[in-house]
Amino acid sequence: MTDSPTLLAGSWRAAADGRWLDVLNPADQREVVGRVPALSAAEIAEAYDAAETAARVWRSTGALERGAILSKAAQILRERRDAIATDLVREMGKTLAEATGEVAKTADFFEYYGALARTPQEYGLADARPDTTVSVRREPVGIVVAITPWNDPLLTPARKLAPALAAGNAVLLKPATETPLVSLHLARALVDAGLPPGTLSVITGRGQDVSAALLGDRRLAAVTFTGSNDVGRTIAATLRPGVRLQTELGGKNATVVLGDADLDLALATVCAAAFGQAGQRCTATSRLILDRPIAAEFIDRLRTAVAALRLGPGLDPATTMGPVVSRGQQKTVLDHIGAAVAAGARLVHGGNAPTAEPLAHGCYVEPTLLADVTPAMAIWRDEVFGPVLAIVEVDGFDAACAALNDSAFGLSASLFTRSLAAAHRFLDRADTGQVAVNLPTSGWDVHHPFGGFRESGSAFKEQGVEGLAFYTRVKTCALRFA
Ligand code: NAD
Repeated sequence: MTDSPTLLAGSWRAAADGRWLDVLNPADQREVVGRVPALSAAEIAEAYDAAETAARVWRSTGALERGAILSKAAQILRERRDAIATDLVREMGKTLAEATGEVAKTADFFEYYGALARTPQEYGLADARPDTTVSVRREPVGIVVAITPWNDPLLTPARKLAPALAAGNAVLLKPATETPLVSLHLARALVDAGLPPGTLSVITGRGQDVSAALLGDRRLAAVTFTGSNDVGRTIAATLRPGVRLQTELGGKNATVVLGDADLDLALATVCAAAFGQAGQRCTATSRLILDRPIAAEFIDRLRTAVAALRLGPGLDPATTMGPVVSRGQQKTVLDHIGAAVAAGARLVHGGNAPTAEPLAHGCYVEPTLLADVTPAMAIWRDEVFGPVLAIVEVDGFDAACAALNDSAFGLSASLFTRSLAAAHRFLDRADTGQVAVNLPTSGWDVHHPFGGFRESGSAFKEQGVEGLAFYTRVKTCALRFA
């Protein structure tokens, strides 16, 4: 176990009062993987002081040089891929293959926004007045707070940091309490790439403990938050008027399989999207809507596929599904399953935590299939965020769309069909920010705009060119030159 100082106001620091937070291994709760400082309000104020100065320096650094630093950070992340992926597995629990993919995609974010810094950010407009030009510019908003969850602890900070920094802002990153270590790898890559001191601070500490100092500072311009709806609501209620807020919240993503679908493709895709990363992806498939004529066969084949998943520690090459992130999350997931069975759902597979050694020391939940679910059940409506798939049967396309959209969430949806008409209609009718046909609910690339509708998100998309809008404000400039 090592102590990991955090990046605070331009230097690597322990907390002044010597308080540390343990990071536990989800695959074996007896192992403390590392410790990070629990920062105080005074230290967060220091991060703001440094960010205030750094934001001016970074903004005037120029887009090309900012882009070059982000591109260099991408290269450094790729060089350090194996070490970072190993730490990611040890603090979060996902498999090494999943973690390695996450490092690669994180590097892609910095490469993409590093290059995007070269694209035009300004355009000219006509003006009726003599000898006058008008230009429309985008400028950074100033100091951004980025608050991120534990499920993709490298990728989600990168999704926010890359556009925020490309646009010229300073950032205070608050990583999840369970998984702060890889965000320090990310900070180190940026510092080594040449990011000016103070432009980024990593605010380690428990959410509730740092919240007032982090969100109450008058210098705060914008908050980008990914996490639960409850915390999202708390943050929205805390911010003073005028502070911009972007939220990426919960999901209850559905896949529809129609009777005419390629069932082999649908089966492999649903299995991977529901149980990849132990179901802890915001875009994981957690609801399955089956056309009645193929339902019994599909559930049977799905049970066989799920039974073949191999539960174990993420660093074991034989593992195909790791643990969930913590004991708390394990209990939450098991409680959801218990309540669903009590409400009348049929347990087709899984449903328990393994009790044999050595898995009993980890936060494992068996991959779980629940059939005979009805739309009234909590398992159909509430986010579980674990390896649990709830299944309903419907009669045809219209009933499938109605079941899909009967949700407070609107993050991602997918359909399996061979009908061109059904495919087009589905893209139109799905009330979700991401929608796919013959593809998983997950798997969106760094240049694809990303974000949910209704209770899953906010007006600002992340990723792609759209992702820059949140981190910039528009200035309209008129100039009479004679
Ligand atoms: P969470 O809401 O508990 O925590 C998210 C972050 O907020 C953490 O860094 C936490 O420390 C911090 N936090 C907690 N209380 C705070 C407060 N009062 N003030 C400021 N910060 C505070 O979420 P989680 O359990 O870490 O992550 C799982 C959730 O994230 C799920 O609901 C999942 O759907 C959601 N998620 C959404 C997306 C998306 O893009 N829509 C992506 C990934 C995860």
